[in-house]
Amino acid sequence: MAPNDELASRTDPSSSTDRNVKHVVLGDLLFPTWYQSIYPEDLVTKDTDRLYVCRWCFRYSCDVHAYAKHTRLCHHRTTPPGTKVYDHGGYSVWELDGECHKLYAQNLSLFAKLFLDHKSVFFDVVSFLYYLLVFTDPNDPENYYVLGFFSKEKLSWDANNLACILVFPPYQRKQLGKLLMGVSYKISSWERDSGLIGGPERPLSEMGRRSYTRFWEERIARYLLLQGWDDAEDAGEGEAEGEEEERSGKHPHELMTVQDIGLATGMLTEDVVTALKGLGVVESATPAKKRKAKDLVSGEAGLGEGEAVIIRRATVLEWAKAHHMAVRDPVRDDGFLGKWAPRDSDDESIADSADGDVEDEDEEEEEEEEG
Ligand SMILES: [Zn+2]
Repeated sequence: MAPNDELASRTDPSSSTDRNVKHVVLGDLLFPTWYQSIYPEDLVTKDTDRLYVCRWCFRYSCDVHAYAKHTRLCHHRTTPPGTKVYDHGGYSVWELDGECHKLYAQNLSLFAKLFLDHKSVFFDVVSFLYYLLVFTDPNDPENYYVLGFFSKEKLSWDANNLACILVFPPYQRKQLGKLLMGVSYKISSWERDSGLIGGPERPLSEMGRRSYTRFWEERIARYLLLQGWDDAEDAGEGEAEGEEEERSGKHPHELMTVQDIGLATGMLTEDVVTALKGLGVVESATPAKKRKAKDLVSGEAGLGEGEAVIIRRATVLEWAKAHHMAVRDPVRDDGFLGKWAPRDSDDESIADSADGDVEDEDEEEEEEEEG
């Protein structure tokens, strides 16, 4: 059984008193654990204050000397296991099969459980793929850091594109969860012929729900801002729909359904609705507008059955600005490698043209929903 999603930060780490391991040393980082893990009791006794964990392969030891010896000899010192599927801006994602890298996947799972609050045992590693988020400093290319990961069932009857996600505590609040979520949608291959639209495994934890809601809102906001709007000058002017359309002649308004948006973004209908509500950009269409304005989203469950609504681009832009959202997706299509590599670069050119609309690249730390 796969675990629920959990992204992260706990507000009160001290409340979990039954933790068998109190702190971990990962590479040269020491930090407290949040939850109990299922380390074998003959190797990791209860009330272990410090567990030393290899930052490359997640092997563990209570003995600092054994740990030091291992880190000198670790087989994964210079490169992560598996295949690199994404690489952009120093961040890469590596796919590994739990069946081929069983020990690695088990050790990673044991470590992750220290920060995940669910009871499910998730050591059925052979039925899962693991995607490691890796950072490599360009000035020090031999040295890499695993910052987090997500897992995914190889065969998911519910088309889940993600089973479990964790950004390790020292690396949280850097928007890395969104990077992993974005990658998980891309490699769910909904865009390809045989791909299915899906989402994270349910039920979501409270933390997972908040993180995903924000991610979905940004995904939909980007879609609404970028699709078909290749005239960046129109950004945020809030003109009447008819005038704008006549002037640009580029069909800036479309009639679309929630399902259409879902198909375009690879998102389940219910998740699209969640995002649209969260964005707060949906206005009821008056009968007069209904006939005239064309950027309508027809009703869906929760938005009013059969009801047509208007989404104004200016309102989406306001939301994006207020939430410091970079219009450009942090997950770059051209960062995907191998079978995930883009087949053409159309999306990129649209993204480029609209890049200046909203504050560029969220350098500043955003109000993090994960916390
Ligand atoms: Zn190691």
